Amino acid sequence: MKTVLAKVDEQAIRSAGEIIRQGGLVAFPTETVYGLGANAFDEKAVLSIFAAKGRPADNPLIVHIADKSGFEGIVKEIPEKAQKLIDRFMPGPLTVILKKTDKVSLHVTAGLDTVAVRMPSNKDALALIRAAGVPIAAPSANRSGLPSPTRAQHVFSDMDGRIEMILDGGACTFGLESTVVDMSGDIPVLLRPGAVTLEQLKETVGEVILSGGVLSGLKEGEVARSPGLKHKHYAPKSARVVLLRGSDKAIAEHINRFAADNSHKVGAIVKNCVTSLDKNVKICYIGNEDLQYAQSVFDALRALDDLNVDIIFCQAVEEGGIGLAIMNRLLRSAGFALLDV
Ligand code: AMP
Ligand code: MG
Repeated sequence: MKTVLAKVDEQAIRSAGEIIRQGGLVAFPTETVYGLGANAFDEKAVLSIFAAKGRPADNPLIVHIADKSGFEGIVKEIPEKAQKLIDRFMPGPLTVILKKTDKVSLHVTAGLDTVAVRMPSNKDALALIRAAGVPIAAPSANRSGLPSPTRAQHVFSDMDGRIEMILDGGACTFGLESTVVDMSGDIPVLLRPGAVTLEQLKETVGEVILSGGVLSGLKEGEVARSPGLKHKHYAPKSARVVLLRGSDKAIAEHINRFAADNSHKVGAIVKNCVTSLDKNVKICYIGNEDLQYAQSVFDALRALDDLNVDIIFCQAVEEGGIGLAIMNRLLRSAGFALLDV
């Protein structure tokens, strides 16, 4: 299959909408990461998403809508607290899990009786959903297990020849996938942290439970409330990832000690304030703010992997605000390897 890579314009959006209607796959930009979309009501098209990504069949997809009226027919009801979240954070980087109707195929929800719904704020994503005229089921547009794509080029390197089209809308604003909150029970459960923070959720709806698996591996026998939590995720193809927590100076010293013996090719993802790193270290500086870290962490993991480093040291951050989401992705990428230095 020839994959068309097109800069977003009216014509490209029109063709992309047509491809979705015909049962094809289109990767598109959102404010979080690039998504890989299919008509949510077309079972065959939905199944082809799993094939293109190599995604385990038990990991459900998020249904993307362009207007709040899109919830009708997809979810059984919107409880009061869920409505509060929708009013405050949609459109935006929030996904809510609600009880599904029969109209939503079990292939989309991986057999669950709930469905994940999100209304993105990215104007190109909204234009595509409107052009398609149907809700779009979409996971992140990476090969399963690899870091999520935040640029069209990342999608191209994972998906060339596997999907019909990639819409290039530039780099994603937040760079981390949406916050996922299960609103189908009495107490909201944060399944995946994102740019809508735990603090903001609590401010809006009161008590919110942080799901197991967010900052630690699932314990033996613990059931993943979000199937995505149990799968290998965000890991580079060959490099091992290790998180370092400590002062800027201690982090630099640890990396330099490791680089000094010359037996490993070493990469580092650190804030700009980590200075005096050895010249042999391949460094990705990610600014000094957590928002910048979020924006560029997946790009940095991919870039260092492309340089064939053996190990990537990543600077840990505080777990407040968007820091919780950054730590969740880094820890999973590192298989929960975290060193205090
Ligand atoms: P992705 O779009 O690749 O970021 O993956 C979607 C995420 O949403 C995965 O972590 C899924 O496990 C999660 N998800 C989607 N639908 C549900 C659902 N019905 N219940 C729990 N988690 C869900
Ligand atoms: Mg994903």
